[in-house]
Amino acid sequence: MPITFDHLYDYAELTSALRELAALRPDLCSIESIGRSHEGRDIWLATVTNTATGPHDHKPAIWVGANIHSVEHTGALAALHLVHRLVTGHGTNPTVSHALDTRTFYVVPRINPDGAELALANPPTYLRSSTRRWPRTDDAPGLVEGDVDGDGRILSMRIEDSNGPWVTSDRDRRLLVARAPDDFGGGPYYRLLIEGEIREYDELTIPIAPERRSLDLNRQFPAQWRVHGEQVGAGPAPLSEPETRSVADAVIARPNICLYYCHHTFSAAILRPFDDRPDDEMPTVDLKRFNILGAKGTELTGYRHVSVFHDFRYDPKDVITGGEDTWAYDHLGVYAWTTEFWSPLPKAGITDFHFINWFGEHPVDDDLALLRFSDDQLGGAGFVDWYPFDHPQLGPVEIGGWNWFRFWTNPPDELLEAEIAPHSEWEIFGALSSPRLVVREARVESLGEQTWRVRVAVENDGWLPTNVTQRANDRKIVGPILAEISLGVSAQLAHGSSLIELGQLAGRSRATTMVDDFGSATDGTPDRAIAEWFVECDDGVELDVEFRHQRAGVVRTTVQLRR
Ligand SMILES: [Zn+2]
Repeated sequence: MPITFDHLYDYAELTSALRELAALRPDLCSIESIGRSHEGRDIWLATVTNTATGPHDHKPAIWVGANIHSVEHTGALAALHLVHRLVTGHGTNPTVSHALDTRTFYVVPRINPDGAELALANPPTYLRSSTRRWPRTDDAPGLVEGDVDGDGRILSMRIEDSNGPWVTSDRDRRLLVARAPDDFGGGPYYRLLIEGEIREYDELTIPIAPERRSLDLNRQFPAQWRVHGEQVGAGPAPLSEPETRSVADAVIARPNICLYYCHHTFSAAILRPFDDRPDDEMPTVDLKRFNILGAKGTELTGYRHVSVFHDFRYDPKDVITGGEDTWAYDHLGVYAWTTEFWSPLPKAGITDFHFINWFGEHPVDDDLALLRFSDDQLGGAGFVDWYPFDHPQLGPVEIGGWNWFRFWTNPPDELLEAEIAPHSEWEIFGALSSPRLVVREARVESLGEQTWRVRVAVENDGWLPTNVTQRANDRKIVGPILAEISLGVSAQLAHGSSLIELGQLAGRSRATTMVDDFGSATDGTPDRAIAEWFVECDDGVELDVEFRHQRAGVVRTTVQLRR
């Protein structure tokens, strides 16, 4: 089966696409399970690197995880696109080749396979995250979202009601607008309900049944975690669910991760930490580098790069905690982002929207522009005109309105590939910014009959420093570069230790946009360090030297002790 990016993938198709890519280039790509979901599905991890130039864990890496939220399928497809881009681009595209020769990509396209599968089922069910019922397991009475007319979609139901809060717009009779305080005696007025059936209907009231599968796996991470009562979806404890636990264990087992990407939908935004604190609390150098790396994302994708705290709050007086990106930055000390793929707003010509705040307040002109976009470019697939339906409990209703899953949450099929492709390039760019150790030069000097001074210079040829963030330094997360000489049986040290600590090395990110007089006029060599040993052995002996760093990789060289 050809792997194409013109539709959303269910679990079986995603699994076979990943296996196909691994089979195509086993030297570049391998697939493993990092754990099992609540319902027992394997959570796949693709490891992509050129194994001919070294194993995955000897190279700096990026982590990409997607589809932790059930309906956000575009993120999974984008993750698969990255794997496909890497596997098929190696050997033909110089950037991809260099990236795979020198870096590793860890990609989990679907963290939450159970919830994602329900979104593509027929009939579909749209959950926030996991399918596990928590904290309660009983069924509550009230309206339960579902595909009541069996057409494979969940739309809205409108019911004419003299006390309804909605009225049709006189600019487009399909559109419902809020009824004004002084609007009486006219109409028709409507109540608006999500498509579904009512559990234990009393024939008078329609409460909304709370969804018992209310876990939100992106509120589960141990970063300022709060209880469910304060942070909805948080679960009984941090990482209590198999999906989040599997991700955290896999990430912690890969200390070479330097940058971290979480794929979500929607808003056409690249979000960065903090979720819960202002930028003033972030080290200046980290903020600056976040913005440089993020600006490249904006350049490539058109998505604005913003802080969650400052620009992406559901409630201006509350913050979200327990999110994966803040955990990655705050506790692992790596650069981390949440990409919110897609928004129909810019496609409809609405460019100055303020992300989720738009939903709370916007002019009717925007709704009309969106309707035009749906009508003219999507054949009406975004907004379904109201059609009559005989509801089993409510009697005659009309079904229609916005197609949330295929217009707001995910792009229509024909727009998928163009939306996701630039993000693969941005993530490859991120991988190439990671620190990487290379051996610069080895010098051997004879100090007499059998004594040698061995000096080997190592440098960081990456853009970021070996510690990656200042946050990692401050929290003492990253160990030093270790240099080790293997003496074998034919050599011994005159003094000192075969293992030397060399600290951290700067990267090229210290350069700014111009040479100034405040420090950058004198570069020096903070990206380079020397390991020195005094060795006793015969003339002609060869010794191996290894430099290793948890993030910047492992490099080796051989020095020959010869006069
Ligand atoms: Zn999400």
